Amino acid sequence: MIARLQERTPITLALSKGRIFDETLPLLENAGIQVDEDLERSRRLIVATSDPDLRIIIVRASDVPTYVQYGAADVGVAGKDVLNEHEVLHPGGLYQPIDLGIARCRLCVAAPAGFDYQGAVYQGARLRVATKYVQAAREHFAAKGMHVDIIKLYGSMELAPLVGLADAIVDLVSTGSTLRANQLVAVEEVAEISSRLIVNRAALKTRRERLQPLLDAFGRASGSE
Ligand code: ATP
Ligand code: MG
Repeated sequence: MIARLQERTPITLALSKGRIFDETLPLLENAGIQVDEDLERSRRLIVATSDPDLRIIIVRASDVPTYVQYGAADVGVAGKDVLNEHEVLHPGGLYQPIDLGIARCRLCVAAPAGFDYQGAVYQGARLRVATKYVQAAREHFAAKGMHVDIIKLYGSMELAPLVGLADAIVDLVSTGSTLRANQLVAVEEVAEISSRLIVNRAALKTRRERLQPLLDAFGRASGSE
């Protein structure tokens, strides 16, 4: 049993370094909250803010839902890509009230420029697909009635078709420059992706008064209220 002194612990917001942190900062600033730490230089994983009742923890993007679900963080910001994968394994585990509209991109099927993907689909070929997004890929191909062998990777999916590990990949695309650099093209969209605010269900009840102003501020800053 991990006991936390709820009354005295500041509200804890889980963010990942990079895009999500960079695009969440302006939303916090709109709510009058500043972060002084320079994340590029600091190795600190717990970061104070100008609000003594709000601290930020820095975790891997795909770990944000886990920290929030178990209550180690009260709130977090995570991409729909990551949330979809989490949701399949932990249905309803998280409250996801606000689409923040940040870190936008598309989850796509991509294949080598010379590969006739539509032809292969039409002929019912059994494709090998490499991806970090196993659940989303499974659902996508099942909905198309396609049989695929999914190979789980943790990164650099673009490499897989180039060295014969897979026929195609399912990966995030924003400008397409990483695909182009590896002679791949997006052949199908799986989902539009942006990041959502997620909230621990117990904290929503036990810490409601302290959380509500933050939820309201995120709602206003993202224009979804
Ligand atoms: P890690 O590097 O820890 O394995 P990651 O590569 O998923 O995780 P980021 O690249 O920072 O971490 O991505 C975090 C989130 O930002 C993703 O889950 C997705 O929602 C979004 N994202 C990823 N790539 C892009 C992109 N090219 N454009 C816009 N948003 C993106
Ligand atoms: Mg990345």
